[in-house]
Amino acid sequence: MTITKTLSSISTATLMKRLRKVCIKPVADRRCNCRDKQGRLKKLYASPSEAADTASTRMDVTQKWLKIYECPEKLGWHITSNIFQW
Ligand SMILES: [Zn+2]
Repeated sequence: MTITKTLSSISTATLMKRLRKVCIKPVADRRCNCRDKQGRLKKLYASPSEAADTASTRMDVTQKWLKIYECPEKLGWHITSNIFQW
């Protein structure tokens, strides 16, 4: 991962912009009805490795634990910040 190396040299705003571009790729044509605590539709990832990549990058930034799990509707994978209960 080269992202940890560049973390210190670029601003947070630039980093977030870059993360959004590179890592957060919602699955365009497949949608499930899973929602987060705020009632927003959860982002769906096509594969566990894609979700894990995004989760680990976000954990580097936020210093919070994240967990990936398979969508109950079997349409893909999700990330949650609630590691005890989905
Ligand atoms: Zn889902």
